[in-house]
Amino acid sequence: MSFHFIKDQDFADFLTDLIRAKIVVGPVAKTSRQQEKFVFARLTRVQDLRLDYDVTILPPKKEFFPAKQDLLRFDGPRVKACLEPVEKVLFGVHFYDVKALDMTDALFKEKNEDRNYTAHREAATIVVSNIRKVFPRAFWASIGAEVKPRGHDAWLTQIVGGCVFETGTLKGEALLKFGRFSEASADQVAAARRANEDMGKQCLEQLKGTSASNAKKVRAAFGKEELWTKFAEDCFSCGSCNTVCPTCYCFDVQDWWNIDQKSGARTRTWDACLTEDFAKISLGAGAAENFREERAERFRHRFMRKAAYLNEKLGGPACVGCGRCSAACTADIADPTTVINSIPEA
Ligand code: SF4
Ligand code: SF4
Repeated sequence: MSFHFIKDQDFADFLTDLIRAKIVVGPVAKTSRQQEKFVFARLTRVQDLRLDYDVTILPPKKEFFPAKQDLLRFDGPRVKACLEPVEKVLFGVHFYDVKALDMTDALFKEKNEDRNYTAHREAATIVVSNIRKVFPRAFWASIGAEVKPRGHDAWLTQIVGGCVFETGTLKGEALLKFGRFSEASADQVAAARRANEDMGKQCLEQLKGTSASNAKKVRAAFGKEELWTKFAEDCFSCGSCNTVCPTCYCFDVQDWWNIDQKSGARTRTWDACLTEDFAKISLGAGAAENFREERAERFRHRFMRKAAYLNEKLGGPACVGCGRCSAACTADIADPTTVINSIPEA
């Protein structure tokens, strides 16, 4: 690990050279109806990079686990894998999204490693940017503090006069050649640390309790059907809370045939456990069973997964407090702080 410094006036040149040499994906603005939102997109010019973003609509997970991904293509008996990982730099990822990537890394490596995810992940260099504006629905400062981000290669922090660039891996070090970096002083490193710590004070939405106490009370509330029915009263079963979540990783796989009935593709698409058909299984002969038929059961399942079921495997809750689900839910009932805070202690 080493600490470097780049002056404000040298930053644009650094990014320009990086964009010329590599595929660089970063947060850019997407404006609609006077509302400014942000997405991760390929950068073609430095002016588009918006490190002052609060949150992106979709998490950077989509770069490794796209919403729709061909796994293989076939033509009669000929089958070809579609795995062609492309080297890229994800620039400006917030630390909570790195924590989420660490979780999907672990889950996709579990048992049978999923190369359709891990190969893309290995081809990426991840540069964190310090959070410069807090998303009003975010609560990352009060959830899962015991889980530290690990999967990044470098961490950029804006301080007075420039940025401290902390490298943690060889891939992170390899970016230094694109900019006029000097060694960071102890004062600059301390200023960067303070800048990251101080931002937590602006993250006002709060999840109460510890990860362990929340896991315990959420699990203990499993049988309180009235509670879940009330929580899910206005749920449309749209699945938006799943779709925007950086830690959700369920998918569906289907084979598609072309009109020649010989060729086609095996494709995976994101799935969402809040949707009505998620847990519907075939019993054969046209019959089916849905083992989470009620929306309250599906709503409860999401909270069991986020706050309790995966904790042991991940070292903390499967939620990083990004606030995307709260913002994406039309009925505004998906906010984990509202739901978990209102569950009585076990
Ligand atoms: S559950 Fe909501 S707040 Fe938590 S990681 Fe998923 S989208 Fe973010
Ligand atoms: S909780 Fe909200 S976002 Fe999630 S499925 Fe229900 S209505 Fe859709």
